[in-house]
Amino acid sequence: MAEIIPFDQRDGSLWLDGKIVPWRDAKAHVMTHGLHFASCVFEGERMYAGRIYKLDEHTKRLFHSAKILGIEIPYTEEEISRACYQAAEAQSIVDGYVRPVAFRGAATMPTVSAQKAGVRVAVAVWPWPSYFDPAEKLKGIRLDISQWKRPAPDTAPTSAKAAGLYMICTMSKHAAEARGYADALMFDYRGLVAEATGANIFFVKEGKLHTPTPDCFLDGITRRSVIALAKARQIPVHERQITREELTGFEECFLTGTAAEVTPVSEIGPYLFKPGKLSETLMNDYAEEVRRPPPATAA
Ligand code: PMP
Repeated sequence: MAEIIPFDQRDGSLWLDGKIVPWRDAKAHVMTHGLHFASCVFEGERMYAGRIYKLDEHTKRLFHSAKILGIEIPYTEEEISRACYQAAEAQSIVDGYVRPVAFRGAATMPTVSAQKAGVRVAVAVWPWPSYFDPAEKLKGIRLDISQWKRPAPDTAPTSAKAAGLYMICTMSKHAAEARGYADALMFDYRGLVAEATGANIFFVKEGKLHTPTPDCFLDGITRRSVIALAKARQIPVHERQITREELTGFEECFLTGTAAEVTPVSEIGPYLFKPGKLSETLMNDYAEEVRRPPPATAA
């Protein structure tokens, strides 16, 4: 296996607090508030053939997440979107993963109140190819069932892509991996089907798509793209509450996310699915969509 270079010891550069700096020097002090108190929001984007897919939506979501947490990003949306391209260019990357992150700094004592701790922003880009081997993907991945529940919207800021919400995701994913699964399905505080640890979930039954209403978890940008792609093919899409009991009745299942793209699922604990035609169609439609050049704007 190829040696993995630790992420804090890589060559190259990234965007930090307004400028491109050497990757190795892009540091935050251990007294950083974001580290102690999870005052941190981030994005995950993919660049395909030199274009960041749905960049505007990702940047808007970063600002939305920050606003919910009361974090004032000291840049404009345009500056952050430009920073994403600058960070990609600095790494000479045209196909890769883009990670903007905004967090409270270390200007004051790390306690709960952090009014003057400062806000820092970084954008890093690295190669992370989407291994698009349809035959391999269509075998489907296996999901465990998480012991953790997605919290209620009045328990945590569930519409934000905020670091604190991922504590239970990492715990769930590690537990799943320890049991030989690729990922885990999480139910919500009501016991309804929610999502995987870093991706949304869809089911197929009798030619129709069913996906949980995102009322206590991230309404993924990929999720919305896939719904639009399905509708363009006249495939009915039902966004609704889905119970655990229903898992026995679905034929196909797949995950959606910037990193996961469209990934068929073969198993969720005791529930079995057979990746089929509809998953394959949407997987291919999405692969085409992300690489499609934007329509030419009128002069
Ligand atoms: N849910 C969670 C918890 C995620 O981390 C992600 C990845 N950002 C998603 C859903 C999918 O979101 P998107 O399609 O915008 O990447």
